[in-house]
Amino acid sequence: MLIKKILLNLSLYIPDVALILFLTEEGVFVPEERSHFVVVLVYFLIKISLHNIVAFFCFIKPYSAVKDILLQFQRGRYSMADSAHVLKPSACFGDLFELLRSTGRYLDNLVGSQNDEIEKFRELYNNVILSANSYFVVLNARDEVIFANKSFSANFRYTDDEILGLRLEDIFYIIPGRFSDAIDNVKKRGQSAVLRKIKLISRRKISLIADIKISRVTVQGEKQYIIVMDDITSQWRKDYQISLISQISESLQRDEEVERILYAILTAVTSGSGLGFNRAMLFLYNEQKKILTGKMAVGPDSMEEAVQIWGSVQNEELNLLGGGPDAPPVLQTNGAFYKQVVTSNFAINGNTLFADVFNKRAPVHIYDAASDPRVDPETRKFMDVSEFVVVPLCSANKALGVVVADNKFNGAPIYEDHVELLSIFAVQASLSIDSYNSLSSVKERMEHIQAKQEAIVESEKMAAVGRIAAHIAHEIRNPLVTVGGYARRILQSVKKPQKTVEDIEKAASIILHESERLEKILSNVMDFSRPSPLIREYNNLNDVVKDTYYLLKNVLQERKITATLDLEQKLPLVKSDFNQLKQVVLNLLQNAMDATPAGGSVILKTGLTETHIYIRIKDSGTGISPEAMDKIFDPFFTSKITGVGLGLAVVKKIVNDHNGEIVISNNPEGGCQFSVELLRPS
Ligand code: ADP
Repeated sequence: MLIKKILLNLSLYIPDVALILFLTEEGVFVPEERSHFVVVLVYFLIKISLHNIVAFFCFIKPYSAVKDILLQFQRGRYSMADSAHVLKPSACFGDLFELLRSTGRYLDNLVGSQNDEIEKFRELYNNVILSANSYFVVLNARDEVIFANKSFSANFRYTDDEILGLRLEDIFYIIPGRFSDAIDNVKKRGQSAVLRKIKLISRRKISLIADIKISRVTVQGEKQYIIVMDDITSQWRKDYQISLISQISESLQRDEEVERILYAILTAVTSGSGLGFNRAMLFLYNEQKKILTGKMAVGPDSMEEAVQIWGSVQNEELNLLGGGPDAPPVLQTNGAFYKQVVTSNFAINGNTLFADVFNKRAPVHIYDAASDPRVDPETRKFMDVSEFVVVPLCSANKALGVVVADNKFNGAPIYEDHVELLSIFAVQASLSIDSYNSLSSVKERMEHIQAKQEAIVESEKMAAVGRIAAHIAHEIRNPLVTVGGYARRILQSVKKPQKTVEDIEKAASIILHESERLEKILSNVMDFSRPSPLIREYNNLNDVVKDTYYLLKNVLQERKITATLDLEQKLPLVKSDFNQLKQVVLNLLQNAMDATPAGGSVILKTGLTETHIYIRIKDSGTGISPEAMDKIFDPFFTSKITGVGLGLAVVKKIVNDHNGEIVISNNPEGGCQFSVELLRPS
């Protein structure tokens, strides 16, 4: 009964026990019966195996659920939101499943927050690289583009896909030597290279001036080359334009040749560093014919030529108005484009666009020549391009012509700032033409005056020649008459025995004297007209003075003039022509003697000042009147009856040749002083 009681109590908690109890007839299990016992045993055996089978099947689900979670973890997916399996906490491994799920959520949050950070950085990095103004290109070891940022592909007109796999040669027409050398160097040595002001033109006709940095990186064992280009075109152009405008203004002040300035302006308009137009042309107004006539043109005839020019002029720091290696190329006058422009005319009262711009003095920007009603058929045919700009050339008071520019070869759009700059250049060109016009009219007047002056000088010269001839004739005639007369006398004396030897001697000495006078006249004329070249040697001026003095000592005595030498003993030697300086002292001493009456005195003095060495000839003669003072150096000015008027002119010439000067002063006590002053040797 006790067992029965226990079983009944157990059956309250364990359903199986209740089930066994129900198996008996009375609803109560009676263990005394053996058969029942066997049944219960079999029941339990079956129950256990069934339970195991059921338990086995119940285990599969949580197993695969847990495995699934772990597999997801392995793949780095921690969120179980989309998990195919869900286990109740009460299920087998339910608690383990829950633990894994909460761990997953935690990891998911952790990774998610890190991913956010990474994503933020990635976005930042992408934005920097992709949208940076700088151009980024990455090349692989085979020189193929494996990455290019948006700026690069957009600027050079490629889609993101198109650019991949291209090489630099496929993108650019010309790769300057400096650039390709630098790439080679980076490849060989691995050191980064920085290049300044590299000019590039792309095959899609985009040009730029860039500062370039090239560096090498190794990604997963492969070498890659990062090229970063900073487009400095506009900055460079601005600097260049400013420098050009100042160059032009300066040259205007220097009165440079107008053609050169105009050419410089057109070159600036077309140069890559300037406005970068493909072609520029200048039409000037011809007042007589009332037409705008083609004056000059700068630009290539074809795209090939354009590229060639672009490539050949790598040095853009052109000194457009100067000479030397920086000078711009010479104006090409044999190209088809040049010829087309200089042989074209547009009547200013015709209905052409150029005439319109000229008359209205306002720039016109044509975007589409084919449909724009302002473009007349003649201009349309002449330009043969859809977009171009025409800018007037005006000086302060009148229109001078027009400048026309276009991008015929690369078809690049013309921006408003370029039109404005073109107008500034046009102002410069106008100023240049204007100043040239006023200069040429001044020149014309000057030439006229000069011609008149020359005529006056010529007639003066003729008059002077006449005077000289008359003077020389007069000078020569007297001594010649005298010589002739005394020569005749000698002849008669020889025939007449009463004539004495003394008479003959007297006549001969007069002839000699007169011949000497003739010689002097001739030598003065010769000295003046044909001065001999300087022979410079180191001379002591005291020797010059002494030599001359001894030459004239007798004459001085004859004329009863007291001559005194006052010589500075410590004179430095002076590089000079001894004979010519002797001529100077001789002429001055002769003049002093001529001006000084008997009983007078002449002092020959040498000396030094701080800067000069001097020879002074001071006389007690007549002095020089103020009127004569201005003329005494004029050739043929003389106050003497027998004077030639060339002595002082010769003196002046020789002293000038020695870089010296002559100082004349009248003495307060009478007479005058001539001081020849030469620079002291340093
Ligand atoms: P010339 O002696 O043949 O007249 P010069 O050229 O030597 O020619 O002199 C020009 C003139 O200068 C002289 O005629 C004279 O009037 C004036 N002159 C030159 N030296 C003196 C002087 N020492 N005193 C006064 N007058 C002088």
